[in-house]
Amino acid sequence: MAQCPHCMTDIHDEASVCPSCGAKKGVYGPGWTADDYVGRAKVIAALAGFFLLIGVGFLIAGQGGIFILMAVVALFVGSLAIVTLVMSGGKEKWYR
Ligand SMILES: [Zn+2]
Repeated sequence: MAQCPHCMTDIHDEASVCPSCGAKKGVYGPGWTADDYVGRAKVIAALAGFFLLIGVGFLIAGQGGIFILMAVVALFVGSLAIVTLVMSGGKEKWYR
């Protein structure tokens, strides 16, 4: 059981909003919890895989140039996923 630092109400660990004073849990600001960051990192990683898959399709079709372009995009999006995942390791705080 966690405790709200603003009103000292006991809050369920899963809850992201204090039922008493409305404070919101988040890593860098209200609303974005560590779980939210992990969830978004997964979506972004899936997107990177999607771009890579499209690129491989073009490579098979003999379009090496588009494959390189898609690989660069996939690499960029993939590194965003890693950054988001690293950010999810930040300490959760309660914001009001
Ligand atoms: Zn509270």
